[in-house]
Formats: sequence, structure tokens, C-alpha cells
Amino acid sequence: MPGSRSCWTRCAEAGFAARGPYAAGVPAPYDEWMRLALAEARLALATGDVPVGAVVVAADGAVLGRGHNAREARSDPTAHAEVVAIREAAAGRGDWRLTGTSLVVTLEPCTMCAGATVLSRVDRLVYGAVDEKAGAVGSLWDVVRDGRLNHRLEVVGGVLAEDCAELLRDFFRDRRRPR
Ligand SMILES: [Zn+2]
Repeated sequence: MPGSRSCWTRCAEAGFAARGPYAAGVPAPYDEWMRLALAEARLALATGDVPVGAVVVAADGAVLGRGHNAREARSDPTAHAEVVAIREAAAGRGDWRLTGTSLVVTLEPCTMCAGATVLSRVDRLVYGAVDEKAGAVGSLWDVVRDGRLNHRLEVVGGVLAEDCAELLRDFFRDRRRPR
């Protein structure tokens, strides 16, 4: 996927490279996990919600929680994909601490979701497209790697970024089109 590769390179150049055993590049599991998040994102289209999707994945690859943006569907400004997925994972685990898991989301999280990710003690955040207008994982702020907070996580950016961005572009283009 040339698109995601180039974004990955840009992210790495910008200092957003992954730490740990996956630092050499984007390994296969991230692509697989992101495809699950993309499938979630498409579910948001049914209710006219901006197509962003997220999954919480355990270290063994088990999906603990899924979520898609549901602000319109639920009339809830906090019903972002990440928050929905984190809530499902924590409820299923019976523990608010999601230690040992990865949150995989199609778009760079906003401040609320970056904060929720830190609070849930997720080990790793994997995201797709960069959100230059509202992103809080390197674009406008870097909430998840702020040394003043007591939990920091590994970040892997730019996974299937082009697929994630295309879904959003198509959504906004269709919305602008006169009916
Ligand atoms: Zn958010």
C-alpha cells in the first residue's frame, strides 16, 4: 500500500515512529487490525455519522471491543469510535484497566479520545489517517506522550492511512453534493 507507506515515512520523519519490537516498520497485524476498524467505520455511514471506527485488541489478537462514531445515532457528543470501543472492552473485561491491549482507530484521536486512551491504560495506540485539524496525537497536541501524565503509550501512526482517509473524503464529498 504505497499511500500508507508514504504516510508512515512522514510520521517516522516527524518523530512519531513506533517504539518497541515493531519499530522496524508496519508489520502485518496492524494492517489486519486496521481492516477491522475500517469495517467498523463503514457502519457509521448508516446513520449519517462521520465514518471513524475503532477496535481494542488484546495481545493475543482477540478483539475485546468495537466501536464506530455514533454522535448522530445517539445524540451523544462523546460517542466517538474510541470511547465506544474502550467502554465495550472494559465492560467485557470487568476492569477499567485495559493494560496489555492496543487501541486501533482509523483517524488520529481528538483530545477527548486521546485522554480516554491514556486513562484506560491501553499499551499501544495504532491509528490510520492524520487529523491535522483536531488530532491530539502529534498534530495539534500530543496528549498520549505528554511526560506530565503518569501513563504514556506506544504510538504507531499511518497504518492503512490512505484507506482511512479515503473513507472520510468520500463521506464529506457526498455530503457536499447537492441533492
Ligand atoms: Zn474523539
